[in-house]
Amino acid sequence: MKRRGAVKSILGIGAIGSLGTLSGLSSFASALPEQDGLIPVLFVGHGNPYNAIQKNEFNQKWKEVANNLPKPKAILCISAHWLTKGTYITAMERPKTIHDFSGFSEDLFNVEYPAPGDPDLARETSQLVKYAEVKLDENWGLDHGAWSVIMQMYPEADIPVLQFSIDYHKPGQYHYSLGKELSSLRKKGVLIIGSGNMVHNLRKAGLPPGTEMTTESMNREYGFDWAIESNEIFKSKILAGDHKSLIEYRKLGNAVNRSVPTPDHYFPMLYSLSLQGEKEKTTFFNDKCVTGSISMTSFLIA
Ligand code: ZN
Repeated sequence: MKRRGAVKSILGIGAIGSLGTLSGLSSFASALPEQDGLIPVLFVGHGNPYNAIQKNEFNQKWKEVANNLPKPKAILCISAHWLTKGTYITAMERPKTIHDFSGFSEDLFNVEYPAPGDPDLARETSQLVKYAEVKLDENWGLDHGAWSVIMQMYPEADIPVLQFSIDYHKPGQYHYSLGKELSSLRKKGVLIIGSGNMVHNLRKAGLPPGTEMTTESMNREYGFDWAIESNEIFKSKILAGDHKSLIEYRKLGNAVNRSVPTPDHYFPMLYSLSLQGEKEKTTFFNDKCVTGSISMTSFLIA
């Protein structure tokens, strides 16, 4: 199948948005050393699935971040694409690669990311969390929210990867409180990655009038006013450590409510933020909007 279906779904909006600005980019180098033996935490804006297989500025930055991190013993990913009732962690030896999308080209469906799982770590994590019951899952695997990012960061697929589901029936505070209880995993060298997009309104996605939709133009900087405004609001709250406002994001005004029509791609960020220690700093990267209504903005906590 060609990517026409997916492309079509993000066409149709011809409004001219102002270009976003690159801001907040600073060197990672100063942020990367481990503090108190804690491995850093990431939130990654994953964008469209082609980022898994095509070379572009966003995934080159993912690689750069990975190259500057201590090699993790395992990766725990909270992906926007695993929404459940109740909270689960993958606990199989060999998680399968899930191609959880439609309308994209064949080469994406052929992707396999054969990273192992870690059933012992899954059990340990489920016992560690007291805030809610975390059930062991044998059926999921790795969805594209996880593999599209992690295969760029760690192409050797030699690090165990686990996924942690998002209970979609629960509010922001639940996810933030639950995330906090994962913090001791950082001491054990587990890299925790929230994978979503802070600004994510697929229904409004589009390109400037007359622009052909290609995998290149889908990643060109382009944001509607409300998307750029929300991106700036989120960054300023993150920098101010105002997690409470981010948990209660519905109170942040019209732009934010347009940018987060559903919280699936937003909640992974709350998991990442919940793990920020008092003395830890946040460093932004890939700070851009694309297709009008999606932000690729990502951050590292260290
Ligand atoms: Zn996604």
